[in-house]
Amino acid sequence: MDSCIFCKIAAKQDPAEILMESDSVVVFKDIYPSAPVHYLVVSKKHIPSIKEVSHEDEALIGHLIHTAKDSAEKLGLSGYKLVFNVGKEGGQIVDHIHLHILGGWAKNKPGSINV
Ligand code: AMP
Ligand code: ZN
Repeated sequence: MDSCIFCKIAAKQDPAEILMESDSVVVFKDIYPSAPVHYLVVSKKHIPSIKEVSHEDEALIGHLIHTAKDSAEKLGLSGYKLVFNVGKEGGQIVDHIHLHILGGWAKNKPGSINV
């Protein structure tokens, strides 16, 4: 989608600090972090949110989660949160599906669940 910021980042038309990438997803640093370590796993296919996911996207969603695991390992996170915000009332601002990776809190001080 031409006007979508995450489509533009996935197409390298807008800058981002990319951590890793595959044929179908890209992982980059969140520009306004809500945790000491905050990355986004973003599908290269434009799907607005979890609400629009279809059966044919099941492998893609699995890959999104698996890539989050690989990214967390690469970042050296021993524990972390994975969050999908879904729809405006769910706190979603960017209407392009993405999985938040949140971590980096002190070991005895787990982070809040709010993103
Ligand atoms: P959500 O509220 O789930 O839609 O989260 C969107 C996230 O995207 C927020 O945490 C923003 O800080 C982040 N974000 C928005 N624009 C950019 C950008 N250009 N590069 C990196 N992260 C972004
Ligand atoms: Zn998009």
